[in-house]
Amino acid sequence: MSVTPTDPGARAPRRLLVTGAGSGIGRATAELARGLGWSVVGLDLRPAEDAPYPVLACDVSDERSVQAAFDGAARLWEGRAPDAVVHCAGVYRFRAATSTGAADWDSVVGLNARGSMLVAAAAARQMIAGGAGGSITLLSSIAAVRGDAGEPSAAYSASKGAVEALTRQLAVEWGPDGIRCNAVAPGVIDTPMTTVSGNPEAFAQVLQRIPARRLGSAEEVARVCVFLASEESSYVSGVVVAVDGGQGAA
Ligand code: NAP
Repeated sequence: MSVTPTDPGARAPRRLLVTGAGSGIGRATAELARGLGWSVVGLDLRPAEDAPYPVLACDVSDERSVQAAFDGAARLWEGRAPDAVVHCAGVYRFRAATSTGAADWDSVVGLNARGSMLVAAAAARQMIAGGAGGSITLLSSIAAVRGDAGEPSAAYSASKGAVEALTRQLAVEWGPDGIRCNAVAPGVIDTPMTTVSGNPEAFAQVLQRIPARRLGSAEEVARVCVFLASEESSYVSGVVVAVDGGQGAA
């Protein structure tokens, strides 16, 4: 058996679409990929005008908005499909389970789980039509596999469990079309979504649960997202990669 070294430059995806590109992990992923010379298009609810790459307005929970944004990205790429999509848009809302009503549930599950399905399906339609396959990366969370007594959100945990099940299903369903589907499951990451760092007592408790004894950075998650989006991970599909400082193993 011979082993041919990979050539990242020749095989790197050129067209990357990132949702939630205006903040946190999405922004870090878009910036890292752009620094590698990839062509990046961002989607976000409220696009910033000063981003160094095009950012299109999109509500990922709305089917027509998602399709319009993917059509807009294809126009920017002269009709071509993205090589990779990293879906970072999401919400977390801290709420006790006993106070979680139908509207609270729908606002979180309806965005995190439905948004993942809508974005992945729009991506796959374009990739299948383009005939070259691609890579889709969804964002799960440590919350899919660990309960949180401090700042619980049952709806958020359930939505991320759905993302992990979806990842495996889509990897199997679209694998024959050359599409890989994976998820990244961050632990506690220092982004605008993370509220715990504003509460010193809760923060100290959180650090005790993380073997690395610190929060992760958006860039540390972005590096894994870019790896999964690249051809360097060409035989990786249907997996959930934890980026959590060891928290899931504790
Ligand atoms: P973030 O900084 O809050 O960024 C989320 C982005 O998604 C924001 O730009 C937000 O826009 C956008 N967004 C929200 N609702 C949207 C919608 N309906 N349509 C389109 N865009 C929407 O969060 P993050 O920390 O980077 O999180 C990224 C992903 O990682 C999420 O899926 C999150 O659940 C997951 N994650 C994060 C952590 C963590 O500790 N930070 C841990 C585990 C998993 P606006 O700002 O305009 O609302």
